Amino acid sequence: MKTEKLEAKGAERSADRAAAAEATRRVPVRSKVREQVIRGIPVAPGIAIGPVYDTTEIPAEAPRRTVPPEQAEAEKGRLADSVALSRKQLGKLKTRLLVLPEEAQEELAPLLDAYVLMLGNSRLLRGARKRIEGELLSAETAVLDEAEAIAAAILAAKDDDKAGLYRRAQEVREIARRLTRNLTATPFRSLKGVPEGAILVAEELTPADAALLDPARIAGVATDEGGADGHTAIMLRALGIPSVLGASGLSESVARGDQAVLDGSAGTIVLRPGPAALERGREALAAFARERTKLGKLRRLPAVTTDGEPVELMANLEIPAELPLIAQAGAQGIGLLRTEFLFMNREDLPDEEAQLAAYGEVVEAMGEDPVTIRVLDWGGEKDMEAHASGIAPTHGGPNPALGLRGLRLLLKRPELLEAQFAAILRVAERGNVRILLPLVTNPSEVKQAREIYERVARRLRRRGERLPEALPDLGVMIETPGAALAADAIALEADFFAIGTNDLAMYTLAVDRAEAEVSHLYDPLHPAVLRLMQFATEAALRLRMPVSVCGEMAGNPRLVPLLLGLGIRSLSMNASAIPRVKQAVRALDIADCARFARRVMEQSDPARIHGLVMGFAEGVSERA
Ligand code: PEP
Ligand code: MG
Repeated sequence: MKTEKLEAKGAERSADRAAAAEATRRVPVRSKVREQVIRGIPVAPGIAIGPVYDTTEIPAEAPRRTVPPEQAEAEKGRLADSVALSRKQLGKLKTRLLVLPEEAQEELAPLLDAYVLMLGNSRLLRGARKRIEGELLSAETAVLDEAEAIAAAILAAKDDDKAGLYRRAQEVREIARRLTRNLTATPFRSLKGVPEGAILVAEELTPADAALLDPARIAGVATDEGGADGHTAIMLRALGIPSVLGASGLSESVARGDQAVLDGSAGTIVLRPGPAALERGREALAAFARERTKLGKLRRLPAVTTDGEPVELMANLEIPAELPLIAQAGAQGIGLLRTEFLFMNREDLPDEEAQLAAYGEVVEAMGEDPVTIRVLDWGGEKDMEAHASGIAPTHGGPNPALGLRGLRLLLKRPELLEAQFAAILRVAERGNVRILLPLVTNPSEVKQAREIYERVARRLRRRGERLPEALPDLGVMIETPGAALAADAIALEADFFAIGTNDLAMYTLAVDRAEAEVSHLYDPLHPAVLRLMQFATEAALRLRMPVSVCGEMAGNPRLVPLLLGLGIRSLSMNASAIPRVKQAVRALDIADCARFARRVMEQSDPARIHGLVMGFAEGVSERA
């Protein structure tokens, strides 16, 4: 079929639209004037119509080079300098994370941590230093050779998760690229000049690049490389920028300023669209906006199941800057205020007054709605910069996740807990506050914390501070298998439970989520995790004690039926997840959920559980 003919004749008619799209896809690249459809992987939904802004990074010039033996020390010094500079750059990027949506932060932070780890005593750096010494290579040649050797070993591993292997290999290459750019003083890509409303096109975009994108300015993103599982894709989804990755041949087909229509759900980019394609794009844009409005309307609707059971949907808050987002999302309160933000990016500790100001801002913004403030959960993977303040051991012991973190650390340093309790108690009169204890394993820890809590309250009262007559409830995070299986005993000491499925899955399965080598084994739907959740939930329900889920699991609409079926009626999640979770709740019947949960809990094979959960979710979305 002649494409020209089709363009001229059929493209205007809506009946021919599908055929036109198919035909235009075959327009050869040689013409840069004609419409051209390029297909890639849909990674972030939404439609973007606008001019293309192509930006490809100048590669670092690092020809293979050897050095004379007397220069080896100097090369190691150059490598050390570029490591220090790279660390600084990643530190800056981490600070920049704080202004991104929580979802984006949660996705990017572990990746940045992984990069920072690779800049520590890693195989990459040990190997590069060895190559400088042994093979007398220049620092950049040594880094690139070692990174390639590691990437090749990763890619050759026996693992069905090929995408995961590729992602891990890319992470190593990415950090080597950063070191090489710094060693050769090659500037990094600048995204400052991207005009408002543009579709950004690049051969490849790193997650770090993605973190610098402003979703209010950039209409869409399309790249030649990349896939749906990569961190860049996850970041773009979290930022809500319509995106298509892995669109091979794209960057060589565009000229800056070309118009384009990008469909992040279908995975297509129409370059230089004709009137019909443009019209289709506009229709799709309007349909997407309608869907968003529909979700927005949910804000005012109650989160109740079809049989009238109310479900509390709350937000997790990591930094106060997210407060407007929480209001927009229609959260019924804050189910988890992580207070670690107060302790980050500083070398000293925030005193009681500084904490009072921070908590006061959140509590007042939330009015009558509950604000669950979790006391500091430092340690483990949440390593912070303020070691200078002597708060925690610099290396967190031989195994930081099993060492001095969470409540254990606070009980070792009771003055920290006292200051935090005092600040929280002093804002309690201004709103509806609850307090949450992290990483508990033993009822005696809760008892000890409560003694400190009551002592601080007595001291404040003596000082003439106005505190509520009944002190705010003191709850416990259930996030270790030990706490889950001792939940009946812990429940006697606690006022409420918040099940932290992130750590619970990690500790139950002995899998660090930030550890790429084993991330395929991280699975909150593993029957072991679900059984622990069930045990803890039932222990709370027997005492008619409130219990919520506040790990990432709570924000996944597909998992809502199971959580409701297990008896959970309160979920706390990143604010942007609330509308979709509410939509799921409003399509569910509690008796169906309970029956479904019973079926799931009879299974012991994680794959079977995944199958059941996805099957049930599909049925629900068809009904919704
Ligand atoms: C959890 O572990 O599930 C949790 C909510 O706490 P955090 O993610 O802050 O460790
Ligand atoms: Mg946790």
